This record gives sequence, C-alpha cells and structure tokens, in this order.
Amino acid sequence: MLFLKNILCNFFSQVRSIFFVFINIFNKRETVMYPEEKTKLFPRYRGRIVLTQDENGNDRCVACNLCASVCPSSCIILQQDKDNNGRSYPKFFKIDFSRCIFCGLCEEACPTAAIQLLPDFELSDYRRQDLIYEKEDLIISNQGKYLDYDFYSVSGVKLKNKNLCKNSKHVNNVDTKKILP
Ligand code: SF4
Ligand code: SF4
Repeated sequence: MLFLKNILCNFFSQVRSIFFVFINIFNKRETVMYPEEKTKLFPRYRGRIVLTQDENGNDRCVACNLCASVCPSSCIILQQDKDNNGRSYPKFFKIDFSRCIFCGLCEEACPTAAIQLLPDFELSDYRRQDLIYEKEDLIISNQGKYLDYDFYSVSGVKLKNKNLCKNSKHVNNVDTKKILP
C-alpha cells in the first residue's frame, strides 16, 4: 500500500512540475544572457569610481583626504600638493578596486563632488595589481553627475547679511562650553 502511495505521489509531483513549466513557457524571461545582453542599471547604481573636473578642466579634488578617512576598506591613498596659485590638488590618487566594496561613503564625504560612483560594474581583470587605479585612470574630463557645483566659486565667499548672525541675540545666548559633548 505504501509503495503504491509513493508511486502516486511521485506521479502527481511530476505532473505538477510539468504543468508549472507549461504555464510559464510564454512568460517574459527573467534571465539576462550576460555579457551578450546587458543588464539595466539604475541611475543611482554604485559602480566604477571616477574623479571629475570642473568646467574649466581643473581637478575638483582638493586632496582633503576625507574620502580616504571615511573609506571602511582603506582602499584610497592620495597625497596633497599645491599649484602656483595655492590651489590644492592630489599629486597622486590611487584606489584599489580589489578592496572597494562600492559603499559610496567616499562620494558622500567629498565636499567638492570630485569623487563619484558611476553605474558601471565591468571592472574585472586578470591580476589584482591591475585593479589598482592611478589618478590618470580615474580622472574624467567632465563634471559627472553634479554639473553645476563648483567648489572654488563658492568656498570662502562672504555671505550676504553675515554680520547679522554675530549680533543675533540667539547666538549670544548660547554658552558654547555647555553644549560640548
Ligand atoms: S565606495 Fe566605499 S569602499 Fe569604495 S573607495 Fe569609496 S568609501 Fe571606500
Ligand atoms: S576626492 Fe573629495 S574627499 Fe577625496 S580628497 Fe578629493 S576633495 Fe577630498
């Protein structure tokens, strides 16, 4: 009896599987035949990291080191230098993509919108050493995702009505020593 029951269960299981295959035969296929067919990436997908330039072709990066400090996998290394006008720029800038986890924290920390993650994931290579990208590999000659932001045109610019803030009774009432953590 048990033997017969097992046969019937297996038979109905097979019929059920064939039925589900049949009703899904005409459905839209979810599998993408990569690399012949490319997957759809959303605009905010975090992939390849680039260093952008401003509209005058100057590096946006001021080599402040914030991105390297915030990076959880310590894969950014850079050194600051200054040009003849006193403008800071990275003398070298390296990212080790074999360690990067594409978290996007470097982009969030960057005050100048220099470092950006773009929707491109095709970064594979045969040797780990080749995944260390130098500044020349990272730099792109446009502003990437943030077109209108130019750090050097807004930093240090005197704010309109700045003096009003100093004379404000709200500011005078604050004891800055008491609000320290
Ligand atoms: S995306 Fe994350 S892990 Fe990659 S360099 Fe930026 S902060 Fe580091
Ligand atoms: S990329 Fe941005 S955060 Fe990193 S050093 Fe340059 S300016 Fe600073």
